[in-house]
Amino acid sequence: MTEARTPILTPDTAAIAQAAETLRTGGLVAFPTETVYGLGCNATDGEAVARVFAAKDRPRFNPLIVHVQDTDAARNIVIFNDTADRLTEAFWPGALTLVLPRRDDRVSLLVSAGLETLAIRTPDHPVAQALLVESGLPIAAPSANRAGRISPTAAGHVVFSLPGSADGGPTIILDGGPCRVGVESTVVDLSGDAPTLLRPGGVAQEDIEACIGPLAQPSASDDETPKSPGMMDRHYAPELPLRLVATEPRPGEVLLGFGPDAPEGAINLSPSGDLGEAAANLFSMIRALDGPPFTGIAVMAVPDVGLGRAINDRLRRAAQMVDD
Ligand code: AMP
Ligand code: MG
Repeated sequence: MTEARTPILTPDTAAIAQAAETLRTGGLVAFPTETVYGLGCNATDGEAVARVFAAKDRPRFNPLIVHVQDTDAARNIVIFNDTADRLTEAFWPGALTLVLPRRDDRVSLLVSAGLETLAIRTPDHPVAQALLVESGLPIAAPSANRAGRISPTAAGHVVFSLPGSADGGPTIILDGGPCRVGVESTVVDLSGDAPTLLRPGGVAQEDIEACIGPLAQPSASDDETPKSPGMMDRHYAPELPLRLVATEPRPGEVLLGFGPDAPEGAINLSPSGDLGEAAANLFSMIRALDGPPFTGIAVMAVPDVGLGRAINDRLRRAAQMVDD
C-alpha cells in the first residue's frame, strides 16, 4: 500500500532534464501535448513500452503513437512518401498522426503491436518539444489515463487516473496547464493504396482533404468487430499456425516458452517468468520463429494476470487468425 503521490512538476530546465533522464533509464513520464496528456516512454525500449501498457491496465496491446521532434526525426524511423511530405509540411507540428512503414525494428515492435507500420507525429507543445529535444528519444505515448477512462487534459487528471510512481505509474508528471486542443490527434494511414482516415481528431478532415484530396474510410472488412472511433483493429498475424498452452513441441513445431519450467534451450519469452519482459519479446520472438524450417509455433501457457492478459489476448487472436 503506497500513498505517495507522483510529483507534478513545473516544466523548468531541471524538471525537463529529470524527465529526460527518467525516459533514458526506462521510466515513464506523463507530459502535456496540445491534444491530451501522454504517458510517455522510450519507444526503443520494449520493457519500458510494456510498463506503459501495465500502468494503463490495458487488456490488449493496441498500437501507440510515437512522438518525434520534427520531420527529420520522423524520417529516421518511418519511410515518407509524397503525401506524407505534403501533410507534414501543412500540419506539423500538430494534431495529425500519420501511419507509415517502419524503417527498421529500432522502435520496439510492441509499440506497433507487431505491425510493420508506425503511427507518428510531432506535437505542437513547448513542453513536449523540450522533452523530445532533451531526451533525444522517440517517445511512445498513449493518453495518460487508465484504460477505458477519458483522456486527461490537465496534469491533475493524470494523478487520479493512473497508479502512483511506486505502483508502476509515471515517475513524474510535467504540468503544462490545460491542453489547447483537448481531443486526440487525427490519425491518417498513408501505408496503403489510398490515404485513409483511421480516427477523426484535432485536425479537421476537411483541412486534410483540402491538402491531399479525399480520404478513404477504413473498409469494414479490415475490422473484426465494430469498434468505437479510433479503435481500428488491424493486427499482426503470424504465417504459421499457433498452438496455445503447449507443454512440448509436436513434430515440425518450435516451442516458445515462458518461465523457468520451459525446457532448457527453448526460445523463452522470459526465463524468469517476468511478464514485462515477455511482453517486450512477444512480437519479435514470434516474428523470428514464423517460417521455415518450422511448420507451427507451440506456445507455453502464460499466466492470465496483469500484462499476461494482454499477451494472452494477442496469442488467442493470432491462434484464430490462421484460417482467414
Ligand atoms: P492513442 O495512442 O490512444 O491516442 O491511440 C493511437 C491511435 O492510433 C489508435 O487509434 C490506434 O489504433 C492508431 N494506430 C497507432 N499505430 C497504428 C498503426 N501502426 N496502424 C494503424 N493504426 C495505428
Ligand atoms: Mg486514449
